[in-house]
Amino acid sequence: MGIEEKLLPNGVMLAGLEKLVNWARKNSVWPATFGLACCAIEMMTVGGARYDYARFGMERFSASPRQADLMIVAGRVTNKMAPVLRQIYDQMPEPKWVIAMGVCASSGGMFNNYAVVQGVDHVVPVDIYLPGCPPRPEMLLDAILKLHQRISEEPLGPRRAAKLLEEGFQKQEL
Ligand code: SF4
Repeated sequence: MGIEEKLLPNGVMLAGLEKLVNWARKNSVWPATFGLACCAIEMMTVGGARYDYARFGMERFSASPRQADLMIVAGRVTNKMAPVLRQIYDQMPEPKWVIAMGVCASSGGMFNNYAVVQGVDHVVPVDIYLPGCPPRPEMLLDAILKLHQRISEEPLGPRRAAKLLEEGFQKQEL
């Protein structure tokens, strides 16, 4: 019997480093405070007592992008706002994730005009697209749990660079 097997009955748990890091990451995701339009009202609701996203380790919205690793784009992004959104994204440390909340953030929605970005994925890489106008808070919680699943399966290392290459994402000149 190896030393590991002898220790196991005494409450010692073995796990790969990757699984351990991903477990810690998915249970401590902090969103940046970033609401753009009506969807933001639903987003704020998940922080309240009824939906209580602190249950999942998301203790608060972070006022500083440098202490946030999730950007929830809640609402339409205007062309004027796009450089600001990109700057906030660039200030967030890796690893970081993006949820496009609602049809406006995902595709421009009903605002098919010259002033509105037709999908925030023209500005930042998106991990989860959430449909609805607006999506209910339950839907946002579901998207967050799906993101947790994704985080728990991610390889360690410079994920974002690899992901960008994989998706052929080109940073646009803003
Ligand atoms: Fe407002 Fe609907 Fe657009 Fe959300 S998807 S920002 S609720 S118009």
